[in-house]
Amino acid sequence: MFARRIAVIGTGYVGLTTGACLASLGHRVVCADVDAAKVARLCRGEVDILEPGLPELVAAGLASGRLSFVVGARNAITELDGGAEVVFLCVPTPMGVGGMADLAAVESVVDEVRDLLTPNSVMVNKSTVPVGTAGRTSELIDRPDIAVVSNPEFLREGSAVHDFLNPDRIVVGSVSQDAAERVASLYAKLGAPTVLTDAASAELVKYAANCFLAMKLSYINAVAELCERLGADITDVTEGMGYDRRIGQACMSPGPGWGGSCLPKDTQAMLQVADAADYEFRLVRATIDTNTRQRQRMVEKVRLAVTGQRGGSLSHTRIGVLGLTFKAGTDDLRDSPALAVSALLRQAGAELVGYDPAMTAGANRPELDALTVVDDPYLAAKDVDALVVLTEWPEFRSLDWSRLAGVVRRPIVVDLRNLLDPDILRRAGFAWTGLGRRG
Ligand code: NAD
Repeated sequence: MFARRIAVIGTGYVGLTTGACLASLGHRVVCADVDAAKVARLCRGEVDILEPGLPELVAAGLASGRLSFVVGARNAITELDGGAEVVFLCVPTPMGVGGMADLAAVESVVDEVRDLLTPNSVMVNKSTVPVGTAGRTSELIDRPDIAVVSNPEFLREGSAVHDFLNPDRIVVGSVSQDAAERVASLYAKLGAPTVLTDAASAELVKYAANCFLAMKLSYINAVAELCERLGADITDVTEGMGYDRRIGQACMSPGPGWGGSCLPKDTQAMLQVADAADYEFRLVRATIDTNTRQRQRMVEKVRLAVTGQRGGSLSHTRIGVLGLTFKAGTDDLRDSPALAVSALLRQAGAELVGYDPAMTAGANRPELDALTVVDDPYLAAKDVDALVVLTEWPEFRSLDWSRLAGVVRRPIVVDLRNLLDPDILRRAGFAWTGLGRRG
């Protein structure tokens, strides 16, 4: 493998992981961001997202001289002796007007660097973008010597480094076969199956995969609700389903609804992409609707557990929330279902105290406005009418539940992740309710 000169634009979950991992594979990488304070921290080796192995890779990259950080996309290209052979776009593509992906950051970087791009280099889009973006990017660059390649990223937050270095597959699409092969060769050491295709197909792989995962999760949440109505147990049902290799064990746990920085925006964007192609994607629409309903259903479960009645009032109740991030193992709060359910509980009149292993008390973040965040799970449980588990942090299993029973006002646990052992909780004196579980 030849070591390449690579610029990575955007140093978030995807960009920083991409930059640090490509440097660890032997490439020379310069990462750029608009956030000067973040770049200054990264230059000192300080990584401010929770990703196992990432600080170590950044430190190793800085020490080897293969990884460096600059402010601004243009500087990433000029910093490299001989210019960048490959430029990766890893900037945000948030949900925009009407659910369409907002491509402002992608377009602004392209505009910023187009005249500076090294002759015959490749512009790679790793951000999740609607089908047709590669073509549009080519038009914006307007240079016949620059190829645009779509190379969607599939890493999961919380295991980003592991996923990047052990991918299930690499997907690379472009009108230029040569450019696609050059990008695929960057990952040669990883030995992953590689799908070389056109740009539109590569762009669609990402949306189709994320919508499928969301659909699987919505489906399991619906089956869990059915279990409650039929007296069946979702744990046994998913075990029985999951042994079927066509179905598998992944994304089979019910929960308070899917969220995070990707699935909500990508499902909405897929609807828009389909709409523009004059296709009504009813499956994706139903997937989103089921998810929205799931959040309200979680509130009704808490209401019933706390008041004993379907329409009971949560006013003047105090609820301890265990878990705030969108899933365990990350500090990312973007579109967290835990926060969405918390906001609905707050609207229903409950006072909320929250604990999350990845959050510090007094964290000054607008997303956490609905709750008082504390640093200690036993403090979160003090005088509460119920404890509600909203994120599946494994450490909640080993809390001292007898001690917790001594500090709560009423020993009620609503486990919206089916995380805890009901027998342990019952022995500690708690009434326990799960999702789709028998009894
Ligand atoms: P992020 O918000 O964590 O990071 C984006 C970074 O880009 C930020 O540091 C921001 O300051 C920087 N930035 C914004 N505009 C810039 C500009 N003009 N020039 C330079 N830097 C700029 O985002 P992310 O989670 O890394 O996601 C990036 C893209 O990757 C999105 O399209 C997302 O959908 C996709 N993606 C995300 C994940 C994930 O798990 N987070 C997984 C796969 C794909």
